[in-house]
Amino acid sequence: MTENFFIPSDEEHVQRERAKARELRHSQWWKGQKGRGQCYYCKARVAPGDLTMDHIVPVIRGGKTTKSNVVTSCKSCNDAKNHMLPVEWVAYLESLRKRE
Ligand SMILES: [Zn+2]
Repeated sequence: MTENFFIPSDEEHVQRERAKARELRHSQWWKGQKGRGQCYYCKARVAPGDLTMDHIVPVIRGGKTTKSNVVTSCKSCNDAKNHMLPVEWVAYLESLRKRE
């Protein structure tokens, strides 16, 4: 059976998208995003040097490194997201929205 022959493995996807992310970090577009000094998730004002690149849909879940899927995140949101299950993360974002 060769049905799956042309479908890239998940590992290939992850490596390709992470490589793209490394390139994107050097782009003027990304410098502009960081220059705004704001976390996409909690909207906190953050020094550009303290912002990290985050994929809204994680690469390991099939997310791509595109300008619409890559956002600036403060360290606390990034840490929180890494430790939460997707369903917990959604609840976290909703709790942020209620605070506004
Ligand atoms: Zn944040």
